[in-house]
Order: sequence, then structure tokens, then C-alpha cells
Amino acid sequence: MRVAVISVHGCPLLQPGSREAGGMNVYLAALSQELAQRGVELDIFTRWHAPEDPQVLDLRPGLRVIHLEAGGRSARPKEDLYRLLPEFLRSLMVFQRAQRLSYDLVHSHYWLSGWVGGVLRRQWGVPHAVMFHTLGAVKNQMRAGEREPERRIRMEQRIIARADAVVVASSQEEHQMTRLYQVPPGRVHVIPGGVDLDLFRPMDQRLARRELGLNGEKILLFVGRPDPLKGLDILLTAAAQLEHPAGVRVLVVGGQGGAPAELPEAPRDAAAPGPQPTVSYHGSVAHQMLPYFYNAADVCVVPSYYESFGMVAVEAMACGTPVVAARVGGLQSTVRDGETGFLIPWHCPEPYAERLELLLGNDALRTSQSIAARAAMQPFGWATVAEQVLGVYRELTGA
Ligand code: UDP
Repeated sequence: MRVAVISVHGCPLLQPGSREAGGMNVYLAALSQELAQRGVELDIFTRWHAPEDPQVLDLRPGLRVIHLEAGGRSARPKEDLYRLLPEFLRSLMVFQRAQRLSYDLVHSHYWLSGWVGGVLRRQWGVPHAVMFHTLGAVKNQMRAGEREPERRIRMEQRIIARADAVVVASSQEEHQMTRLYQVPPGRVHVIPGGVDLDLFRPMDQRLARRELGLNGEKILLFVGRPDPLKGLDILLTAAAQLEHPAGVRVLVVGGQGGAPAELPEAPRDAAAPGPQPTVSYHGSVAHQMLPYFYNAADVCVVPSYYESFGMVAVEAMACGTPVVAARVGGLQSTVRDGETGFLIPWHCPEPYAERLELLLGNDALRTSQSIAARAAMQPFGWATVAEQVLGVYRELTGA
């Protein structure tokens, strides 16, 4: 089976943790490796984003990344990409014709790629599977960050109406999609995201802290792209409200290092009265290094306004670190309230502070949640995800 994967802005080679690269890049890299291992041949078409990169990169036999020129060969903000889609499509067709390539299926990621996938479906007469990762209408409903343009939502609606399969990462995402968009019956497949259970595993906390040069403080960890949707301000305010904030360190992973510009003024206010927690900004960290951070932490906090799946929570739990997360989207399917962490139904700091206080002050509770967390993540290995995605491919192609 030969699959054309379309990921206009999400090159699997990009380091996650910047404004524009995160869960989708990790998802694509891990899923395509698993599918290639199962004999599927994949070409991942993505925008050329670094001029020094070659056009074609062989990742392993049967798995290639193909960079296509659209508005030059350098990085561009995601907002620029909509108008570059026709050029991206042209570059793809030129490459495909020159190399005489043919595919059995198109799988696109995110709405920009969904448009490309829809055109290829018509041109090539092959089925189209799409995964949005986030939906414009859901994002707007969460009322955090900039508003997504109407044209995105209209486009998503058209893509959903014409695609042969729509993959979503949680039943919550399916529910939101069917509530806010017209979804033809039988098209949606719920396939949760995954985690590398060999990479993300429990290790001795002291060892992890030594590796990172950290000491015996209480450590709260935040990992995420610098995006107001991630709710970092909620965590920082909650940490300052703890009974003994002076003994607490908040580790912030993601972004460029330093307080992100998106952060509201209040939580950054160093002159606030009373003792304050220490906050250290690490910038984005190589994915392979993250197990040290999860294992060094006492609790991982995911105060997002919106997560279609929420890989950070799953990675933390796979390392045996309890998670205190917002009760939104896919986090409701992965974090078991009171068992592997806590789910918070309000986007305000007080209930976070209350749950963090409870967890930080109770070693036995943390230990029991830690054991339950690692056990609960066993079904989320990438092999399971790949088998399910392959099931959809087979259904669509009749292979
Ligand atoms: N990530 C990383 N390094 C960083 C920050 C994040 O490797 O410095 C990875 C993290 O391990 C996770 C992904 O980026 O796999 C974020 O995925 P998530 O679903 O939590 O959020 P999204 O980026 O999709 O909004």
C-alpha cells in the first residue's frame, strides 16, 4: 500500500515545542515509522522550511519526507500558508508526475493539508483520510487566544463533507465535531494518540533531577508550545497561591526560554507581595530529553483550554508522574480523576492550587497515583495506534 501523507506545516523533522511545532509533528513522526514497519510505503509531503535541507529525505526503507517549494524554502508563520496552498499543490503535482508516482490513498493532517488532500482525491481518484488535530470552531468556543477565521471553519466543513474518513483522537473531539459541523454518518474513526512507552518510562527521581541539575524542591512541570491556549498563566498563578510557594519550582518547557510574550502581565509580576515560587524557563527541549523532566517532577500540570488529545499528559503518566489537567477534550479520556491525577473543571487557579496542595503534601497519594498512571498508559503505545490507522486504510482501499 502506498500512501501520500500531506502535512503542509507539520514537518516530522521539526523540533517540537515552538509556536508552530508540537504534538502533530510527534504524532506524524511516530505513526509513520510504525506504519512503515508494517510494510506501508509513505511519502510525507511538507513545505520546504529550511533551505539547507535536501528535497527528499529517506527516513527508512519505504518512508520519505519530501520538501516542496511554496513561497520560498524558509520558515513562514502558519498564517501565511493559506495563500501558498495552490503553489504547494502545484509543486506536489510536478514532483509526482516527474517521478511517476502513484498512491492508493491520501492522508492529510490539519485543515490546510485537508484542502490539498481533497483536491488530490479528485485528481487521482483515491480515498482521502483526514485528521484535523484541532478544529477552528472548537478553538473559538474555548475563547482563548486569537479567533480563528471563518474561512478556516468553512473549509473544515467542506473537507469533512467530502473526505472518506475523518480520524479524531478522542470521543470528546468526535462529539464536538458532530455538534459544530455537519458530519456524514459513519465517516468518523476515534483513534487515540500514542506515546513511546520505551522512551517515556519511570526512572529514579533523584537521578533525573541530578541529570538536570535540580535539587530537592517540590517540582511542578509544564510542557507545551507557547500558546495562550495552553493556560500557563493559570499554573503560575496557582503556584503562587500554594501554602509554601517558596519551596516550589515551576519548570516550564517549550518556547524560546524566558517568559513567553503571550503570558498575561499578572503572573509575571515579580514584585507581587509575599513568597513566590521559583519559575525556570527551559525553552524547547529535545523530545528524547523529556523523560528526565517528567521524572524529575512531582506533578505535571496541563491547564489547557483545549486539547484534542493532549500527548504531554500521556507522556507524563507513562513516566509515572501524576497529572493535574483541565477537564477538556481528550484529557478526559486519558487522565483518571482521583486515580492518575486530577481533572479540573474550571479555568481558574484556585482549584488547581487546591489539588496541587493535596498532591504535594501527600507522598502516599503521589506514589499510588504514580503507579496507577504508568499502568493506565499501557493501551496507548504507538503500535496500537498504527494498527487502528491501518484498519482505516484497509477499509478505504479494500486491501
Ligand atoms: N514537546 C517536545 N519538546 C518541547 C515541548 C514539547 O518534544 O520542548 C513535545 C511533547 O513531548 C509532546 C508534543 O510536543 O509530544 C506536544 O503535544 P501535545 O499534544 O501535548 O500538544 P500540541 O502541541 O499538540 O498542542
